[in-house]
Amino acid sequence: MKKLIKKGIKHVVVNTAYHSGLAKLFGSFHGQKVFCVGYHSIRDDKNEEKLDTSLYHNISVKKKDFEDQLVFMKKNGHTFLTFKDLERKDLEKIKKPTIIFFDDGFKDVLLNALPVLKKHKIPATLFVTVGLLDRTHILWTIKLRYLLKKAGLNHKHIEEHIMKLKGLDREKRNSEIEKIETKYKVKLDSHCLDIFLNWQEVLQLKKDGFEIGSHGIQHEKFSELDPANLHKEINDSKSIIEGKIGKIVAISYPYGRTNEKIKNMSKQAGYSYGLGTGHGYNKLHDILTGPFDLKRITPGPGDSLSRFAVELYMNI
Ligand SMILES: [Zn+2]
Repeated sequence: MKKLIKKGIKHVVVNTAYHSGLAKLFGSFHGQKVFCVGYHSIRDDKNEEKLDTSLYHNISVKKKDFEDQLVFMKKNGHTFLTFKDLERKDLEKIKKPTIIFFDDGFKDVLLNALPVLKKHKIPATLFVTVGLLDRTHILWTIKLRYLLKKAGLNHKHIEEHIMKLKGLDREKRNSEIEKIETKYKVKLDSHCLDIFLNWQEVLQLKKDGFEIGSHGIQHEKFSELDPANLHKEINDSKSIIEGKIGKIVAISYPYGRTNEKIKNMSKQAGYSYGLGTGHGYNKLHDILTGPFDLKRITPGPGDSLSRFAVELYMNI
């Protein structure tokens, strides 16, 4: 109930702020801020079925909304950069420096997001998860949605299952998923793995101006891993990606989870930037002094443009 009231208040604040022009006013004072605007998947009616978008609908933004958000930022004087550009000496003179990025490596970044980015000449960064590209791993939420859908459960029940498993640690969650496989006699179909890009497609994106970064190997919470596995996620993912794509400078921690140890290891591994899940814009000072827990702005599915504007400028 409390949550609902809070949500209601936020809704009123968002709308009032946008319609009274407050958001734009705040937007005009952002010379010393850096915006990292992050997405996972961009969906389009044309290929939703082929890409099984229903398995990750909760992190998929409509192509039209994505374009509206880019156009809004363009009109409001944002300058689009990549993480590599943050090393520029004239960064403080750049107006509203903004990085558009994507986590995980969904195939629709190539099919749906790239044409929009190209049309508006906007660069972007893609944080790839090595295991998803290699087809050795899958996001557990996608796997579970697929299994339960195959078992015939309805949308409501599937989402309830997901919520229940979200609170568990990795081992307990995996054992619950195994129990579901046995109970319903269902297995993951290999075509589910093809909703992610492959290495060749990532190279194609690089040719089209994408910057590539690391999002680990297995897409596990780094904070739950022992030192040897943490080293693999941070260091090995970097060398694997660099072996195939070329030098990378940034890492996006899966689920944004980070701590001092993870930040230090990332720095020692040779990254220059690390992206957490803290919400909002970054102060230029933080980019220059402690760039291993950068904050992000994450437009959600169905967010109105007014909500996007307020999230962008007001750090609510
Ligand atoms: Zn991710």
